[in-house]
Amino acid sequence: ESFKDQSRDPAHRRVGQVKEVTSLTNPIVKDIKALSQKKTREETGTFLAEGLKLIIDAAELGWSIRYLLYAKAARGKPLVEKVAARTVARGGMVLEVSEKVMSSITRKDNPQMVAAVFDQQWMPLSKVRLEKDQTWVALDRVRDPGNLGTIIRTADAAGASGVMLVGDCTDPFSMETVRATMGSVFALPLVKTGLQEFLAWKKTAGISLVATHLAGAVDYRRIDYKSRPTVLLMGNEQSGLPEELAAAADRLARIPQAGLADSLNLAIATGIMLFEARRHLLTLEGAE
Ligand code: SAM
Repeated sequence: ESFKDQSRDPAHRRVGQVKEVTSLTNPIVKDIKALSQKKTREETGTFLAEGLKLIIDAAELGWSIRYLLYAKAARGKPLVEKVAARTVARGGMVLEVSEKVMSSITRKDNPQMVAAVFDQQWMPLSKVRLEKDQTWVALDRVRDPGNLGTIIRTADAAGASGVMLVGDCTDPFSMETVRATMGSVFALPLVKTGLQEFLAWKKTAGISLVATHLAGAVDYRRIDYKSRPTVLLMGNEQSGLPEELAAAADRLARIPQAGLADSLNLAIATGIMLFEARRHLLTLEGAE
């Protein structure tokens, strides 16, 4: 692939050098496509996200863009130009790609006009300090990418301060999870921790650990979420919370159910818990 001389095109002059890519065998395209694999995301510490608004929001929150890709049809659009200029200014690369390349990278027939490769961001558990009125969600071995994405989105919407992944969890930076977060993956700090590390942190964190458990004796609406910052601990989709985690909880909470179903879907249960724990902090008047 050649760097085209686009100096007579005002859009490109402002943006700087834009690489035009139409071939699926282009090495950069291959590298970006490989981000569909967890191994490659881990090795490179990057991930792919799609959608112009989401990418602009992320850049404004300080997430750095390694590659910005836009479809030919988006050339010259002011917002695309702006984010392209910003990408170049911060050392990223801008690629103008054919629809075929965009489809192949995003694995979609009707892809978005813009996609970007971002650096992953993780917060170390040792940095997590909960202040008054803060709520975090801790997920024990969450397996389903859609559940995790929905939980991150819902935690953001409920005004939670972050999400912890305890044990072997699905990757929050997979394309499926990122899509399901609808942009909230950029809004909340994410923490990855082992079970023992989490238990040790809990002992000194000064938080109330409210674990949801199907054998929990307490109605989730009768728990005090106000006196101390709260971590809501949710169990694995198949096996629920292991005893070791349940035993570390200050309270075991249960959402009463009717009907035939034994349990609620994990993301639904997390949503119900979040909005109850933050009920006193959420008002329509305070909404933007
Ligand atoms: N078979 C699993 C068990 O026995 O625990 C079911 C797990 S459930 C699908 C996944 C998680 O969602 C649970 O570990 C819990 O955190 C939460 N959950 C689902 N229904 C709940 C309820 N009625 N009350 C409290 N938590 C619930």
